[in-house]
Amino acid sequence: MKILFLSSEVVPFAKTGGLADVAGALPIALEHLGHEVRIAMPKYREVSVQGDTAVSGKNIKVHFISNDRLYDRDGIYVDQNGTDHPDNLDRFSYYCREALELVKREDFRPDIIHCNDWQTGLIPVYLKTLYKDDPFFQKTKTVFTIHNLAYTGSFDKNEWDKTGLDKSLLSVDGLEYYGRFSLLKGGIIFSDIITAVSPTYAKEIQTEEFGCGMEQILRKRSAYLYGVLNGIDYNIWDPETDKYIHKNYSYKSIEGKHINKEMLIKELGMSVDPKKPLIGTVGRLAYQKGYDMLADIVSRLCDMDIGFVLLGTGEPRYHEILSDVARKHKNNVSINLSYNAALAQRIYAGCDIFLMPSRYEPCGLGQLISFKYSTVPVARKTGGLADTVFEYDSKTEEGSGFLFTDCVPEHLLDATIRAISVYNDKQKWLRLIQKIAQYDFSWDKSAREYSKLYDKVTRC
Ligand code: ADP
Repeated sequence: MKILFLSSEVVPFAKTGGLADVAGALPIALEHLGHEVRIAMPKYREVSVQGDTAVSGKNIKVHFISNDRLYDRDGIYVDQNGTDHPDNLDRFSYYCREALELVKREDFRPDIIHCNDWQTGLIPVYLKTLYKDDPFFQKTKTVFTIHNLAYTGSFDKNEWDKTGLDKSLLSVDGLEYYGRFSLLKGGIIFSDIITAVSPTYAKEIQTEEFGCGMEQILRKRSAYLYGVLNGIDYNIWDPETDKYIHKNYSYKSIEGKHINKEMLIKELGMSVDPKKPLIGTVGRLAYQKGYDMLADIVSRLCDMDIGFVLLGTGEPRYHEILSDVARKHKNNVSINLSYNAALAQRIYAGCDIFLMPSRYEPCGLGQLISFKYSTVPVARKTGGLADTVFEYDSKTEEGSGFLFTDCVPEHLLDATIRAISVYNDKQKWLRLIQKIAQYDFSWDKSAREYSKLYDKVTRC
């Protein structure tokens, strides 16, 4: 099939989070299955490619949509202060329109346009309205994947005209969303198939707790809503070949992990005994990720003689909370408030335990990466974390990590303490970290599931 894959960020060209990882890897896995795939994304300032195209995988043409006024600036979605760019509606409606025009110019007739998140939400809407009678797209079906429902892409109603859509769509049955309008809602209503990035998240978003006000329309469209778990790209995430870590290793040569731990402690200037557990986390500093719960328990964790490493950037309030933690615990805590892909890989490799206290987590990649690096996740049982991490049972030695359910700092602390107590049993820990490194979360399986959905929708 001919597939046009649209995502506002794609590894290795631009990334703020997991969406870029998915958009970098899934098209390659689809190509592997025999599909003809193209990608289109905006050409931001940080895209360091000469010209308007690049190649990904074997033969995937990546098109960059240029417009200096809209994309040549710092920050993909937000400025240095974390404030949304004021013209984001222009930026992403232009991207959607241009993507459709581009494939026409290229005479690439997609069977499927696979859209991702709110930035591409107008595509299904345009196809069923402005391009409804365009013979070029007569056979084109849309799949709209929700990576994070909370980012609704909502705008003030007085900006509506910029979408180029008829006013009649600015209604409750259309894109209207709590006095504003939402591009994500457009994607949900107008796409042929909706997917969420894990089976549990696909269920959760139909409830009031996780539905961000979209739960009713999602329930209404539940027959078209599927959960497909993300994978990870083992060409990037593999301690055996990772270029950024101090010493390559695998579950078969696990001693190498210890060297990474010692070197990481040194690199970060910490004075932690490398025999003690080193606990790490990497992620966006946003309410979703639960790092305020984590900040709450760091002092108590430090009393237990552990090392703690955090790498993240995001909302200023979390920068403040975490800087405060760093000031209080100079020796055994390292707080790194930046985006640093290489350091992230050294943290996955050098830590023993990886924390993901997310309030909600559509899929989560950190736990999957941790598995591969023999680092044991402690996670909240939600979304994709609930689908991939299972509570370790010290008697049977079944399970892969340590979970907590309620958003209560003490419960996160309890789960971490359970992890530390298994860490202290060297033989059990060794068996656990060797086991989790052998799990297979490669993209192949997910790509096959998407492929089946493409088949299904094109037959309708
Ligand atoms: P989300 O998409 O919600 O941000 P995921 O767990 O799906 O969360 O994916 C996060 C990805 O971004 C992972 O690959 C993680 O390692 C990476 N990441 C997040 N923050 C940073 C950072 N500050 N530096 C380097 N990598 C980061």
